[in-house]
Amino acid sequence: MKIAIYPGSFDPITLGHMDIIKRASKIFDKLIVAVSQNRSKAPIFTIEERIELLKKCTKDIPQVEIDTFDTLLIEYVKNKEANVIIRGLRALSDFEYEFQMALTNKKLYNDIETMFLTTSSDYMFLSSSMVKEIASLGGDISGFVPEPILDDIKKRLVKE
Ligand code: ADP
Repeated sequence: MKIAIYPGSFDPITLGHMDIIKRASKIFDKLIVAVSQNRSKAPIFTIEERIELLKKCTKDIPQVEIDTFDTLLIEYVKNKEANVIIRGLRALSDFEYEFQMALTNKKLYNDIETMFLTTSSDYMFLSSSMVKEIASLGGDISGFVPEPILDDIKKRLVKE
């Protein structure tokens, strides 16, 4: 069984993430979307909320499983008996960080492969931080986040 891990903050999930999830789930038997408990980023949504939102958006994709991890990514990947990490690439600005991370993970665990899926052109400039900024200023985010969670995000971020 080919298992891949798609790690990230998903704070919150956007249509850009969703696009990567749909495409990667066609390539693997199982895709574990893993919310990282990254201490260096201050999230807006709690881990539980992010998991809930991810579950709502992926309930119709049988290959997808939602999880969270608080260890070194490589350890998590080994525990899950996977050897592929999926990451999305948007603009050139993602490249340096992603490249560094992929090489570091390879150094830590030689059997790991990081697979990059290029963003769809529609989502090239889409990020969770942009969604949070627009929603908190009362802007329309319907073109940026999956429909099933639109209201959850608005409720949480739009100031009355
Ligand atoms: P992290 O903090 O790990 O970067 P993110 O939730 O910001 O977590 O992103 C997780 C992964 O999804 C990253 O590989 C990122 O490049 C990718 N990603 C985020 N937004 C998009 C998008 N609009 N199109 C394609 N990939 C994306």
